[in-house]
Amino acid sequence: MNERSTEFGLPRSAGRDTASNGNSPGAGGDAAPGPLPHPAMFPGAEEPDRPPPREKKLLQKVERYQSSAEVRALGIYPYFRCIQSCQNPEVLIGGRKFIMLGSNNYLGLVSEPRVIEAARAAALRYGTGCAGSRLLNGTLDIHEELERKLAAFVDKEDALLFSTGYQANLGAIATIAGRNDCVIMDRRDHASIVDAVMMSRAQSHRFRHNDVDHLQRILEETEPRGGVMVVVDGVFSMEGDVADLPRIIDACREHGAVLMVDDAHGLGVLGERGRGTCNHFGVTKDVDIIMGTFSKSLASIGGFIAADAHTIEFLRHNSRAMIFSASMPPASVASVLKALELIETEPERLAQLWKNTEFMRGALQSAGFDTGNSTTPIIPVRVGEDHQVFRMCMLLHEEGVFVNPVPGLSVEPGNALIRVSVMATHEERHLAEAAAKIEKVGRQLGVIPVTA
Ligand code: PMP
Repeated sequence: MNERSTEFGLPRSAGRDTASNGNSPGAGGDAAPGPLPHPAMFPGAEEPDRPPPREKKLLQKVERYQSSAEVRALGIYPYFRCIQSCQNPEVLIGGRKFIMLGSNNYLGLVSEPRVIEAARAAALRYGTGCAGSRLLNGTLDIHEELERKLAAFVDKEDALLFSTGYQANLGAIATIAGRNDCVIMDRRDHASIVDAVMMSRAQSHRFRHNDVDHLQRILEETEPRGGVMVVVDGVFSMEGDVADLPRIIDACREHGAVLMVDDAHGLGVLGERGRGTCNHFGVTKDVDIIMGTFSKSLASIGGFIAADAHTIEFLRHNSRAMIFSASMPPASVASVLKALELIETEPERLAQLWKNTEFMRGALQSAGFDTGNSTTPIIPVRVGEDHQVFRMCMLLHEEGVFVNPVPGLSVEPGNALIRVSVMATHEERHLAEAAAKIEKVGRQLGVIPVTA
C-alpha cells in the first residue's frame, strides 16, 4: 500500500484495505463488518500488489493554491461575506447592520412588495422550476410574454431569454461569430464576453478602453475571411463610465462590423424610463444586438438578447447556451415582468437613483477621491494597490459599510479601486454616513491627504 502521509495536503486517515474512514464502527482488520459494505464489494480493494497511483499533475496548481488563505491570514479577506437579509440600503451581516453600497439592485426592486408578490403567484401557478430547456418542455406563456415586452422596451423586433446574463453573452457571441470571424472587444469588457469569444474560436482583438481611434486602427488592419463583430459594455461594470457609442457606431458602419452592446448596467439606469445606453444616445437602430441581464435593475436573475427577428430566430435554434440549459424559473420571469412594468409606470424611482448618484459622487469628490470617468450609479474610488483595496474594504466593514473591492484583476495593476454603487432606495442619511466613513478610512490609509 502506498504509505504517503498526506494526500492533496490532507492527512490520510485510513488505508484502502479497510474500506472505511477509520473512525466508523467496523474500522480495523478484525472488527465485524457492521453496517459498512464488505471490502469484497469493491473491485480491486484487496489487491496487495497494486502499484501506487501516479501523481495527478493536473492538480499541482490546486495543491499550490494559497492565495485566499494568505489574504485571510492577514485579516483582510473581503469575499463571500455572508448576508442575512435582502439587498436593501441596510443589510444584516453576523447580526449587525451595514450600509449596503455594493449591490446592483439599482432601482431597489428586489424588495418591492409587488415584485415579490408576482414571484409568489408565479411559483404557485407554475411551480418552482421548468425542468427542461426552452426548446423542448421549458417554454411557458410568461417566457414569451417577457420576450415580447423586453423587445418593445429596448425597441428591437424580438428578444430571446437566457437563464443568466453570462449565458446570454455566450449564447449570442459564440453562436454568431465562428472560426473565420473576428471579434473586437473593449479591454474592460465583462468576463462573460471574453469567455464567449474564446468559445466562438474567432480571432480576437482588444482595443484600449473606450479609445475609438484604437478600435479604428484594429478595424483597418483586420481582414478575416468571415465577418467582424465589435462588442462593448454599454456601462462599464467596474468603473461606471459609458461606451462612446456614437463614435463606435461610425467605426462599425465604415468597416461593415456588427455591433453588440452588453447593457447589463445600463438597463433601468440610462435612457428614457431606463431603456438603456442605446436609447440614451438615440442610436438603438444602429446597434445590431443588445444584451441585458435581470440581475441588476430588473430584480431577478436571467438575461436576454434583443435584435432583429431573423437574428433571434437564428439564435433560438442554434444557441447552445440556451438550448442545452433549463429555462428561467417562473418566479424569476414573473418578477422581471413586474419590475419592467414598474420601471415604465413609476419613473420616480429612476429620478431618485440619479439624485442619489449625484449626491454620493459629489460627497466622494469633495472628500478628495478620484472617481474616474464615471457618470452612472457605479462610482469607482481609486485606491492604488490591491492590498490597500482589501484593507480599505475591511476597515469599512468594521465601520459598518459594505463596498466591493476591484483589485488589479479587473482593471490595470496599481489602479485597484473600491466600487461604490448607489440605489434609488438609499436615503440621504445612508449616503452621507457612508461617505463620511469612506473619507475617514481613506485618510487613515493615505488614499486622500490626511488634511483636506
Ligand atoms: N455583463 C456584464 C457587464 C455584467 O456586469 C454581468 C454581471 N456582473 C454580466 C454580463 C453577467 O450577468 P449575470 O450576472 O446576469 O450572469
